[in-house]
Amino acid sequence: MDRREVKEEEEEEHEIVIVGGGICGLATALALHRKGVRSVVLEKSETLRATGAAIAILANGWLAFIALASLLFSHNLLFLSCGIYIYIYSHTRCLNFPCVAREVWLDKGSTKETSFGHGEARCLKRSDLINTLEDALPPHTIHFGCQIVGVKLDPLTFNPILQLLDGRCIVAKVLIGCDGANSVVADFLELKPPKAFPLSAVRGLTEYPSGHAFAHEFVRMRMNNIMVGRVPIDDKSVNWMVGQQSTPKDTRALQNPDLIIQSTLTLIDGFPPEIQQMIEDSDVESLSLTHVRYRAPWDLLLGKFRKGTVTVAGDAMHVMGPFLGQGGSVGLEDAIVLARCLYQKLSEVHQIQSRSQMMMHNVAEAMDQYVKERRMRVVRLSMQTYLTGLLVGPSSMLVKLASIVLMVIFFRNQNDHTTYDCGLL
Ligand SMILES: Cc1cc2nc3c(=O)[nH]c(=O)nc-3n(C[C@H](O)[C@H](O)[C@H](O)COP(=O)(O)OP(=O)(O)OC[C@H]3O[C@@H](n4cnc5c(N)ncnc54)[C@H](O)[C@@H]3O)c2cc1C
Repeated sequence: MDRREVKEEEEEEHEIVIVGGGICGLATALALHRKGVRSVVLEKSETLRATGAAIAILANGWLAFIALASLLFSHNLLFLSCGIYIYIYSHTRCLNFPCVAREVWLDKGSTKETSFGHGEARCLKRSDLINTLEDALPPHTIHFGCQIVGVKLDPLTFNPILQLLDGRCIVAKVLIGCDGANSVVADFLELKPPKAFPLSAVRGLTEYPSGHAFAHEFVRMRMNNIMVGRVPIDDKSVNWMVGQQSTPKDTRALQNPDLIIQSTLTLIDGFPPEIQQMIEDSDVESLSLTHVRYRAPWDLLLGKFRKGTVTVAGDAMHVMGPFLGQGGSVGLEDAIVLARCLYQKLSEVHQIQSRSQMMMHNVAEAMDQYVKERRMRVVRLSMQTYLTGLLVGPSSMLVKLASIVLMVIFFRNQNDHTTYDCGLL
């Protein structure tokens, strides 16, 4: 067998490859599918991962969902065929709540209400969300157990070649990295690595088979620099998060739910008994501990987000702290904008009927258009998130003061980010 035969046997080819089957990767595949463009999603895990238990989706995120679903109307397909739309607006058990957080300072004994957006927010179980996206995709779109360890360009065709952990190689014409904060595709684009906030968060879900007694509201309780956030998903499940300063011990506990729960219970000593009980009764499977990371706003402003026919979306492009609750919604917006740009340019290629070089040129143009549309949106959001993180995190008084000044100058209306409309597909 000569070298070429071996190469042919080992290399698989696909037109559009999306790396990462998280919210952004699945939404991108679905947005392309809605426009009649086929893609494959390579996911390193053996099943879909729902790390983080639940996710709040704000008004701009719902507009992106509506864009994903709205094409069905224009194609006159049955409304009922769109699982996402059903999930969100009819069958959903998740509760909508006004974008107002009740902030409680337990040590000071004070309470105040703060607005964090326009319109309504809903908190969904991440597993429901990604399973719904998966169900709406054509069969065999997601290839599980495919961990990408490197990307290079074919020196002759300039097509991206993906190297997998198991030794296989996959050749793509178009590569979209939706592989989260530790993105291999972002490394290929030579983006600066994300930075760490000195904060970590434990997230979990608690089920109350006979119903819980919590109001349908988002509550944040603070004491001794520990923050506990709580929001009901429906009448029987509650999502919670405990934010704390990062310590070296966190890393050891990362993989062990029992340790996570024990250390969290120690942390929240002194919080109301129903909070302690909620955490004690949490679903062990849902627990996760995450260090908060972010791509610096100035890196987003200057970063080169396309090389050849390769780009990134979601956290791979703009991982940000959870302070505005926008990471997932902005990833959904990326999916809509990227699919729209690609579809427009790819349909020109199909009309001309001349492939290959023309396709690469048009894909590059589509990706440039996508990056142009997204750049200032994500720069602004990540800047606002960063400043909010400095205000709520463990920084000096001087830094906090500077953050307030910058917030007043650049983000006078602090909820503007939720009014953004990414447009239709
Ligand atoms: C504490 C906390 C709370 C948050 N709360 C909210 C919230 O309320 N609302 C909100 O909108 N956002 C929130 N976020 C942000 C949100 O979780 C993320 O922005 C969102 O999950 C990003 O989705 P993604 O698909 O881009 O990346 P991910 O969810 O990270 O998905 C990446 C996928 O790629 C796969 N993958 C990774 N590397 C490879 C590889 N080499 N090969 C193949 N596959 C790979 C992974 O297995 C994963 O499935 C929060 C974040 C944190 C840390």
